[in-house]
Amino acid sequence: MMNNTTAYRGNIFYFNDTASLENLPKHKNDTSNQYVYIEDGILIVKNGKIDGVGSYATYKDKLSDIKVENCGTKLITPGFIDTHQHSTQSSIVAAYGEKLLEWLEDYVFPGERIYADHDCALKDMTFFLDHLLRNGTTTAVSYGPLFYDASDLFFAELNKRNMRFITGNILMDINAPATLKLSTQENYDISKKLIDKWHNKGRLSYCISPRFALATSEAMMELCGELKKAHPDLYIQTHLNENTNEVKEVKKLYPWSKNYLDVYDHFGLITDKTVLGHCIHMLDEELAQIRDSGAIVSWCPISNNFLGSGLFNYERTLKFTDKITLGTDWGGGNSLSMFAVMDDAYKVSMLNNQKLPSMHRWFLATYGAAKTLQIDSKVGNFDKGKEADFIIIDPDASPFLKYRRRGVEDIFELLFILMTLGDEKIINSTYIMGECAYRADK
Ligand SMILES: [Zn+2]
Repeated sequence: MMNNTTAYRGNIFYFNDTASLENLPKHKNDTSNQYVYIEDGILIVKNGKIDGVGSYATYKDKLSDIKVENCGTKLITPGFIDTHQHSTQSSIVAAYGEKLLEWLEDYVFPGERIYADHDCALKDMTFFLDHLLRNGTTTAVSYGPLFYDASDLFFAELNKRNMRFITGNILMDINAPATLKLSTQENYDISKKLIDKWHNKGRLSYCISPRFALATSEAMMELCGELKKAHPDLYIQTHLNENTNEVKEVKKLYPWSKNYLDVYDHFGLITDKTVLGHCIHMLDEELAQIRDSGAIVSWCPISNNFLGSGLFNYERTLKFTDKITLGTDWGGGNSLSMFAVMDDAYKVSMLNNQKLPSMHRWFLATYGAAKTLQIDSKVGNFDKGKEADFIIIDPDASPFLKYRRRGVEDIFELLFILMTLGDEKIINSTYIMGECAYRADK
């Protein structure tokens, strides 16, 4: 077997596997061994996996037979994990003037119809995945298309790119236009076929994806519960408590429910592999149930700001659960950059009179998400044997960041200015299992 080994020399940052929201440092004077920051370090990648990491000084005599890529003062760090995005909504991002329910009607549903056409679907999703890699995101929990052919194509594209991805066909059988509505049985049959073909194939995991309680019938949710029972390792994703009008409509449609979360829970959909988008307008009893079930919260601040949905309360949520992650909600969110998400998370927290430290936000977007999604034995940091999904960040690619980083002395401030001022232009390259999947200068 060919020994395919490359060493990357540069500044290295990642979290230790013992890191948690509880024990991460809040500022630079906190002593913590929960992260690793090495100036002039070496990351060794062998056959797609992490083989070693340390300072250049300790490695330099052992590198004679290894190809070394010198990244100078660029930052080498694990790729971002986005836990909520709509792969089919690129064509309607930045749509003017509506809040959630009207926005779905006026923009999203017409936009998602193009996925009935094979060529349009392929073109759109190729653009989407290229753009995702350009933004340094290596893993995502993503809503796929409604239709079988387009969903199959999406899985095939992801498999070709060898990405660790959690996705499934979006399910809608009520309150949708005729051109974008399948029968309950059709939705179920498509899901079964896709599970059989793609779940656990390569680095792919299937995710049962009812759009939200207003677009899926009770019969549909019951079938979702059956799928989960038949395949307990499947993920589930849906939306929860995003918009106050949505919450009122859910109560009207499901008068028997104790609360919004109860609608999903009634059908067995609230589990420790369920990712719940938004979770803004939450009752204490819903947060307690999230805690008890181990379900995962995906906070999507750029989308919440764009659609005027409300301010997620990080500190209140954290009192109940630490299973908090970050999502772009590409579609409602107007950026696929996790820098933008981390930036808006800070600003939303400031509006709530809360300070959200740099390390915590970076953790939510990388290793924290890997832990919460139970994929931390595979990705999320640079421990030996992990899959080598990483990015190289070049702060100097932005003239202002280049100017601003002068005098920045520690990793705390560096992360803060990257999150506040960075965007896709500072992603120099993105690696999937040690293979370069995107490079800015190519
Ligand atoms: Zn969404």
